[in-house]
Amino acid sequence: MTSFFHEGDLVGVLTTQPLGRILDYKAPEGGCHLGAFVEVPLGPRKVLGCVWGPGKGDFDRAKIRSVIRVLDAAPMLDEMRAFLERAGAYTLTPMPAMLRLATRSPGLGDPPAMRKVYRRGTGLPKRATDARARVIAALEEYGGLAFTLGELAEMAGVTSSVVKGLVKEGVVLEEDSPRDLPYPALDPDRPGKPLTEDQATAAARLGEAIRAETYGTTLLKGVTGSGKTEVYLEAVAETLRRGRQALVLLPEIALTAEFLTRVEARFGAKPAEWHSGVTMTERRRCWRMVGEGGAQFVVGARSALFLPFRDLGLIVVDEEHDTSYKQEDGVLYNARDMAVLRASMTGAQVVLASATPSLETWANADAGKYARLDLTSRFGAAVMPQMRALDMRSEDLPGTRWISPTLAQAVRGRIEAGEQSLLFLNRRGYAPVTICRACGHQIGCDHCDARMVEHRFLKRLVCHQCGETKPMPEVCPSCKVEGKLAPVGPGVERLGEETAALFPDARVRVLSSDLFGSARALKAAIVEIAEGAADIIIGTQLVAKGHNFPKLTLVGVIDADLGLQGSDLRAAERTFQLMRQVAGRAGRVEAPGLALLQTFQPEHPVIRAILSGEEESFWAAEAAERERAGVPPYGRMAGIVLSSPDVQLVFDLGNRLARADGPLRRIGAQVYGPAPAPIARIRGRHRVRLLVKADKGAPLQAALAEWVASVPIKGDLRLSVDIDPQSFF
Ligand code: ADP
Ligand code: ZN
Repeated sequence: MTSFFHEGDLVGVLTTQPLGRILDYKAPEGGCHLGAFVEVPLGPRKVLGCVWGPGKGDFDRAKIRSVIRVLDAAPMLDEMRAFLERAGAYTLTPMPAMLRLATRSPGLGDPPAMRKVYRRGTGLPKRATDARARVIAALEEYGGLAFTLGELAEMAGVTSSVVKGLVKEGVVLEEDSPRDLPYPALDPDRPGKPLTEDQATAAARLGEAIRAETYGTTLLKGVTGSGKTEVYLEAVAETLRRGRQALVLLPEIALTAEFLTRVEARFGAKPAEWHSGVTMTERRRCWRMVGEGGAQFVVGARSALFLPFRDLGLIVVDEEHDTSYKQEDGVLYNARDMAVLRASMTGAQVVLASATPSLETWANADAGKYARLDLTSRFGAAVMPQMRALDMRSEDLPGTRWISPTLAQAVRGRIEAGEQSLLFLNRRGYAPVTICRACGHQIGCDHCDARMVEHRFLKRLVCHQCGETKPMPEVCPSCKVEGKLAPVGPGVERLGEETAALFPDARVRVLSSDLFGSARALKAAIVEIAEGAADIIIGTQLVAKGHNFPKLTLVGVIDADLGLQGSDLRAAERTFQLMRQVAGRAGRVEAPGLALLQTFQPEHPVIRAILSGEEESFWAAEAAERERAGVPPYGRMAGIVLSSPDVQLVFDLGNRLARADGPLRRIGAQVYGPAPAPIARIRGRHRVRLLVKADKGAPLQAALAEWVASVPIKGDLRLSVDIDPQSFF
């Protein structure tokens, strides 16, 4: 196919507007490349598009309009276009939405903006102050380098007006410089940490795979602290040596601060960052530099997978089992699976790192589709914590308290030894339920089929489905009796209260994402706590995710049964993963750790598997169970969610779909439902769910597309298809 179109040639442009087809335009003056990002007229508007191929020419040529202009950005590569098409076809996502995912850069069409930078001028200030001296010292320390006003003020610990004052005297020079500078080069040959034998073997195997410059996926399995990060950073180093780009996906923004520091220690500079906590200007820089080759190494959240890499050689998916890799809003994709797809199309390696892999990944490794590397022990002296169940049936505890006497005793011991304890409860807020003791009414959300959660810190009730909040009412909304509303059950805030009462002299810190104003504040708190600023940490699953707390030697799981009740296909797997991750927080460095699991069902197979440490038998049993039931990863599933403000309309649509199942029957798939979705109403929309099950090899997407298209969806009805659904709400 031609890769350049001359002025007036017909080009097919995919836009980000939901149109359902690619439109013909004339190439602009100066022509354009295949893949060029362009601005095109659409009715009265100007919209973003990408030159997707030659025009079809099935439209009156006289009416075809011209591309307005070609944007100043590297054209999309053929392989990226192919990736977006494959990913769109897999997830049944219309191409305009895929293009939006790939162009999530602010100011894509702007000319390269300039910004002010500051460097050392000449002479000394007429009036010398400490602050002024610090500015000069900071600049002189870095020779001729220039900094932004913010950077310089922060380095010198002064306000920006101090810098401005020096500019007036010529002691500091103010200059214009392009905003989107390449990222500092990383040096893969700086010495890394000396690796243990296990680690060295794993790193060598990954290195070989990377040198082959072909596709392959490896499960890198090892308990938290076994050095998975050290090992995959070696794979990153090998990728950089070959001049290819590397991407590390992390599940949680809060994790990146520690990670960036480690990268800097290893490679001498920080990588590019891509996640929701990054400023607009940095996002723009990252997107452009990835596309132009000015960023070798990107650390990011799942959407970083859609950055315009020029030559991607390695994708690491850290904590690959983490549920946040599944996007549950808008385009429903699983970043882990899309990473494998992208790598397979560009001849890249994928490393899936986890202490507790997803069953899908475990099964792929078991079947030999993925390579598998195991790190068998923790680095240094630390060993896996000892794990014990605390049988809550024999603990003496009133219904309004959650820390058993045995657990409290253990915590006391750690405080005396100057060590940290973590009390884990995966429930944000103060209390999950607020009940009226006069009439029994439970306060629910007005828009959702969910109970509102009291957040005392915010002084409000919050719906965890839609985010709606309201103040705690004085009187019961149902019976109007005053003063009878009472919290039921614990959230981390309430657990914090109980802890403070039990250990009045201990420093207690609650770590829950909603208690901090920003990701930065949360990061800062985590760093402080890791350095010893707390005796007892109360945390949600946020803390299960790989932070290093070197002084932590005891983990108490407040309610190990919490995840076991759901009817979810993955309930057992999730509980198993979460409990092992949390337990893995204890005893990271030299001090041995202990994990105590409070449970009312110590004989439950999942609890037994966690305690026994015989992971492989847990996976094998769980895999056999799924295979018998023909469910993922041994069968295929798709969830269809229909919604509307009108409950009748949405059920009618569900029934019509269920009856029109011809295309599905032809591939041997079955439809279940319609049934009310587990959360039957969200944001005022009634939700109905259908579930499709098919054999592993069945051409599910094509059948689904035909099926869904056969029933008209009008007005306020909405339909979304979720391939490989992870959660069932
Ligand atoms: P994981 O990613 O498996 O949780 P990390 O790579 O984060 O493990 O390692 C845990 C801790 O042990 C980190 O602080 C890391 O720097 C340290 N560590 C791991 N391997 C080594 C090594 N070979 N030499 C020195 N420190 C190491
Ligand atoms: Zn709600």
